[in-house]
Amino acid sequence: MEYRQFGKLNFKVSALGFGCMRLPTTGKPEDINEPAAIQMIRHAIDAGVNYIDTAYPYHGGNSEKLLAKALTDAYRQKVAIATKMPVWLVQQSQDFDRLFHEQLERLQTQHIDFYLLHNLQANSWAKMRQLNALAWLEKARDQGHISHIGFSFHDNFTVFKEIIDAYDGWEFCQIQYNYVNENVQAGTQGLQYAADKGLAVIIMEPLFGGALASPPPLVQQLWHNAPADPVTTALRWLWNKPQVATVLSGMSTLEQVQHNLAAATASGIGTISQAESDLITQAQEKYKQLNPIPCTQCGYCTPCPHGVAIPNNFSLYNNAHVFAGNTVTLSRALYGLLPPSHRAESCADCGDCEPKCPQQIPIRQWMPRVHKELSAK
Ligand code: SF4
Ligand code: SF4
Repeated sequence: MEYRQFGKLNFKVSALGFGCMRLPTTGKPEDINEPAAIQMIRHAIDAGVNYIDTAYPYHGGNSEKLLAKALTDAYRQKVAIATKMPVWLVQQSQDFDRLFHEQLERLQTQHIDFYLLHNLQANSWAKMRQLNALAWLEKARDQGHISHIGFSFHDNFTVFKEIIDAYDGWEFCQIQYNYVNENVQAGTQGLQYAADKGLAVIIMEPLFGGALASPPPLVQQLWHNAPADPVTTALRWLWNKPQVATVLSGMSTLEQVQHNLAAATASGIGTISQAESDLITQAQEKYKQLNPIPCTQCGYCTPCPHGVAIPNNFSLYNNAHVFAGNTVTLSRALYGLLPPSHRAESCADCGDCEPKCPQQIPIRQWMPRVHKELSAK
């Protein structure tokens, strides 16, 4: 296992982190196949994984409970655990204590190593500030219930920068990032910004909800005679970057764990070959060709006078079309989490944006289609 520096902390984190959001089930998401999940988690720990990530809502609340079971028999001492405050359930400041104590009970512990505000966006960040979330986090740390304070994020770079700049106490953050999301959400710019500020950056969705594991045929053909399979290539692209602390993979089978452990063991900063780098560039180009909306995420059309996050809406729509499967669900969930004024439905048809678009995209025509697709149940 390769170990990497975790921001400014005196901690070397395993290159591969275990994400407990896609554990094996016996049917519905909340029905975790406990023997299989425990075997997978322990196998990963035995092979050197030392960071495990869960959250309040994963598997209908059962992920945290499962992790507690997996970490009996002296496994708890071998790993750092991370979980997150479900900020959307916090309506008043007393809710912090209530939800946190529920998590301690589920996890059967009095101490969480890495604690995050879950899924910060512009509106949830404003609410957290209003409810003094940072003071609550510091109190929990002073009382010895948590060690390190961070946040996970799903909004644009401007919001990301604002959150980082607002508080000197952040020690780490968690962003969605992969080779097709370089300019989405925090993106490469956010990765660099956070790393420059000394935060450890944890990567989630490295395979974009699993979509990069099975590319469409036009992209898959690039891997004919490639030095590694699509999953390994996507992970190695991330591990090649010095700004990345650890890569969380939400694994669902023991085979996936074994595969990713092997990839992590052979990973490292500056280790990808020119052939691998060229392959990624070609795959990025192919994916762009598959996008129904030829948006390059340049941002020249912003700001929209009515608040519509034009590039973000187009990115979610394109992803839902190109990758299908889990990514449709992810895109719709992220669309639903946007403030209403940011969504395509808020387009007032003013036309201000269209002359600024170098791709000459008929933005007004697309907005109703984007809303219809992303708001479908
Ligand atoms: S046409 Fe719609 S998206 Fe474009 S600037 Fe006007 S309101 Fe915003
Ligand atoms: S200007 Fe055009 S290409 Fe650039 S982000 Fe806006 S819609 Fe996309």
